[in-house]
Amino acid sequence: MSALIDRDVLFASDPRQRSIARGLYGSIATLPIVSPHGHTDRRWYALNEPFPDPAQLLIVPDHYIFRMLFSQGVDLQRLGVPPMDGSRTEADGRAIWRLFAENYRLFRGTPTRLWMDYVLSTVFGIEELLDGSNADSVYDQIADQLAKPEFRPRALFERFNIEVIATTEGALDDLSWHRKIRESGWGGRVVTAYRPDAVVDPDFEGFSDNLDRLGDMTGEDTGAWSGYLAAHRKRREYFKTFGATSSDHGHRTATTANLGSGEAEALFQRVRTGKADAAERETFRGQMLTEMGRMSLDDGLVLQIHPGSWRNHSPGMMARFGRDKGFDIPTRTDYVAALKPLLDAVGLEKNLSVILFTLDESSYSRELAPLAGVYPALKLGPAWWFHDSPEGMRRFRELTTETAGFYNTVGFNDDTRAFPSIPARHDIARRVDCAFLARLVAEHRLTETEAFELARELAYTLAKEAYRL
Ligand SMILES: [Zn+2]
Repeated sequence: MSALIDRDVLFASDPRQRSIARGLYGSIATLPIVSPHGHTDRRWYALNEPFPDPAQLLIVPDHYIFRMLFSQGVDLQRLGVPPMDGSRTEADGRAIWRLFAENYRLFRGTPTRLWMDYVLSTVFGIEELLDGSNADSVYDQIADQLAKPEFRPRALFERFNIEVIATTEGALDDLSWHRKIRESGWGGRVVTAYRPDAVVDPDFEGFSDNLDRLGDMTGEDTGAWSGYLAAHRKRREYFKTFGATSSDHGHRTATTANLGSGEAEALFQRVRTGKADAAERETFRGQMLTEMGRMSLDDGLVLQIHPGSWRNHSPGMMARFGRDKGFDIPTRTDYVAALKPLLDAVGLEKNLSVILFTLDESSYSRELAPLAGVYPALKLGPAWWFHDSPEGMRRFRELTTETAGFYNTVGFNDDTRAFPSIPARHDIARRVDCAFLARLVAEHRLTETEAFELARELAYTLAKEAYRL
C-alpha cells in the first residue's frame, strides 16, 4: 500500500491464513463506507471550508493523543488545549506538531500510531515515519495540501467513498447545520442521531434549565411527566426529518427500570424539582432507557446504549479544562441484572433494535453474547473506544461469535471526531475481520464461500441493516 502501511498489515503471519485473508480483503477493500455512529462536526459538511492547520486538525481535538502525552508529563496548554479560565495556550500549529512528532514514539504499539500512519500515508502521501527530525517538512506537506480544494470536507467525503455518515446531536440542538447541508444541494448523505443525555440525566450540568428549554422548543409542559415524554417524542420525530435512524445514550451504568406510571410520575417530580437522591437519579436514568425503548417501538429509531464510562474522573482536570479531556475511564459493567427491567418490557420485540456497547470486555462472553444470542431485540455493537483497536476487535470476535454468531453483531462504528482517520478505521476493522474469517477457513470451520459472504456483510451490509440506513 505504502511505505508506512504494509499490504499485509494485521493479517496472520501463517502463509495459508495470510493468503486467505488477502483474498477476502481484496473482495471488500473498496466497498463504500457506512458510518452509522460518530462525532464528526456537521459544520464541516455544511460550510465546506478548508480544514485548519495540521495540528488543529489532527492533534488538538484528539483525546487519544493528548491523554498519552499528558501521562508522560506534557502540559495540555502546550498541545493547544485551552484551559477554562482563558489563560494562555499554544496557538502555533507548527509548535504543537513538533511537540507531537518529537514524542511520536510514545504511541508505538497503540492504535493511534496505526491510524496516524494511515492518515499520513494514504490521505497526505507522507512516506516516512514521523519523528522530531522530519516534523517541519511533514507539517508543510500536510498544510500545503489542506489549502487545496480537493482536501475540503466534501471532497474528502467523496474520495473516502462514504455512502452515509451519522453525526450525533444533543436533544436541544436545532439541527440548523443539518438543514444547511440539506439545502445546499450537495449529494453527500449526512444524518443526525438523537442524544438526549442532557435532558435525561439529572446529574448533567444545567439539567433543570435544559428541561425548560426542551419545553420551549416543543410547546410541551416539561414540568409534568406526560408532557416531558411527549416532548421527547416530538424531538425524536424532528430528528427523523433530518435522517436520524438511531438514538444514543451514554450512561455510567447499564441500569434500567420499569416503574408503573404513578411511580414514574412521582419520581419525575422529585427529579424535576432537584429533590431526588443519587439512587433515585440513577433509577430515573434507567426508567428513561425503558421509555426510549418503548418510543423506539413506535417510531423505529434504533436504541444504542454506551454505558460504563466514568466520565471526567479527575475533578481537578474537569475544573481546569472541562469535559472530554481523556479522563473518561472504563468501569466494571453489569448487564444481566441491569438490563432486566428493559428486557422484561420490550426484550422480546422482533421489531426493536437495541445495540449494546461495552468498555468491560469481561462482559462479552459472560453476559453480552448470551443476552444478544437469545433476546430478539438485542444486538452487539462493535469493540468500542479503548477496545477500538486491532487486538480489541480480534478479542470481540473471539469472545462473542461462538455464542451470538455474526448476525447478532452490527458491523463497524468508527465513533470518531477525527474525520481524516475514517478510512483508516474502517480499513483496520475490515482487515481484522478478514484475518478472523481466514483463521476459521484455515481450520475448516467455514467454507471459503461463506467467508466471502461474511466479509461483505461485516464490512457493509450488517451496519446498513442494523441501523436501518
Ligand atoms: Zn459515540
